[in-house]
Amino acid sequence: PLDKDELGNKTWGFLHTMAAYYPDNPTTQQKQDMKLFFNIFSQFYPCSICSKDFQEDLKVHPPNVENQKTFSRWLCDMHNNVNVKLGKPTFDCSRVNERWKDGWLD
Ligand code: FAD
Repeated sequence: PLDKDELGNKTWGFLHTMAAYYPDNPTTQQKQDMKLFFNIFSQFYPCSICSKDFQEDLKVHPPNVENQKTFSRWLCDMHNNVNVKLGKPTFDCSRVNERWKDGWLD
């Protein structure tokens, strides 16, 4: 089985990549569906403490599904909340598309 860290690392990779490919002009349906995805994901994420805390954080910070930029930014902020909880360094969210979409620009 995957341990909590490997599961987390791979899951963040998936989530940030999904956000990188979220549309710039999503339809109303796509916006609704992405909110629903996170609602369901947070209930079934297979790490109980992670799932519980993530559901709470989603209540305070619902997904910003307006467009690719706002959605990736929101996910980066959510990941940073977990980083803070775990005592890990936070990530500079102004560079989230460089990390997960375009590649580093320097
Ligand atoms: P990760 O945090 O997995 O990050 C992977 C890569 O993403 C990093 O190498 C970096 O390049 C990049 N990155 C880092 N921060 C950001 C950011 N803010 N935005 C964009 N990219 C970034 N673990 C627990 O022990 N307790 C928990 O409660 C917990 N909750 C979790 C909730 C969720 C929804 C998920 C997906 C994971 C959770 N985890 C939790 C796992 C934890 O977040 C890490 O995945 C795990 O500790 C492994 O960390 P890592 O050092 O490999 O880097």
